[in-house]
Amino acid sequence: MRYQFKFRPYQRRFLRSLTTNHGRWDIREGIILRLTDETLKVGWGEIAPISWFGSETLEQALDFCRQLPGEITDETIFSIPDELPACQFGFESAQEWESEFFSIPNAPCPMPNAQFFSALLPSGEAALNQWETLWQRGYRTFKWKIGVNAIANELKIFESLIHTLPASTKLRLDANGGLTYEEANLWLWTCDNLKANPEIPLEIEFIEQPLPVEQFQQMLELSKSYETAIAIDESVATLGQLAACYQQGWRGIFVIKPGIVGSPSRLRKFCHQHQVDTVFSSVFETAIARLAALKLAAELSQNNRAIGFGIDHFFEQEETWFQTLWNDL
Ligand code: MG
Repeated sequence: MRYQFKFRPYQRRFLRSLTTNHGRWDIREGIILRLTDETLKVGWGEIAPISWFGSETLEQALDFCRQLPGEITDETIFSIPDELPACQFGFESAQEWESEFFSIPNAPCPMPNAQFFSALLPSGEAALNQWETLWQRGYRTFKWKIGVNAIANELKIFESLIHTLPASTKLRLDANGGLTYEEANLWLWTCDNLKANPEIPLEIEFIEQPLPVEQFQQMLELSKSYETAIAIDESVATLGQLAACYQQGWRGIFVIKPGIVGSPSRLRKFCHQHQVDTVFSSVFETAIARLAALKLAAELSQNNRAIGFGIDHFFEQEETWFQTLWNDL
């Protein structure tokens, strides 16, 4: 099959800048692409890299798009190199795009099926003020970033948080690789103790990426020493890393970010071959990549874990940004 290929870079500003152990993030930049096949069927795709997480940079993705001719083939799409995983995702999902029309990204409130999604809380003390709004919108699983401030401080906020959150809540703690070995032990020990405390009815579902990617063996060891589950995220940013961690014995949870992991068809193959425990998660993409990512999550999720796409409250509801992006075609 041959496709007419067009692309447009985009920028979206976060309502509140996103703070993780990697620093502050204010503007989401990416590329929307459009493939029109010989029957005039249109497919949309999105390239939404996060280079500090292990994908290509936006510049590398733009360079790749710019050097392509106006007409490409399936062969072009399925031979995108592994160094460009966000491009692999964007082109392949455009190639397999199924929606008849594109619906504009506007999140109704309450969000439909929010109970299947995990909502990201703001980091630090702000979490204490925001969970309730999200609870009212239907969310029951929350993620809170740790490793952002001093651990003593965070443990104090955590203490307040677990006494405030309702009983049926599940809480995920995401360190983005920002803990030391001692701090990771302290967090895991604290969570194990909570599990044993009948007065705390909420569930700490897992701690995500406690240590940096280089300390995989220590995380493997920690995952065997504590009852609290560990999920790896930064360690498995791309398909190659996913396979490597599996081969080295990881049987904990794998966080998969479809937007940067690489080829959807190869991801399907991997997940079907090895029945891994997965959590699917957002890369702060627009509705285009989200649609493709949610389709993969629905196909490949195991164990009914909430998927990490509860991030609408981080963007303004710009119903017109998409038309604005393409109206000059
Ligand atoms: Mg994470």
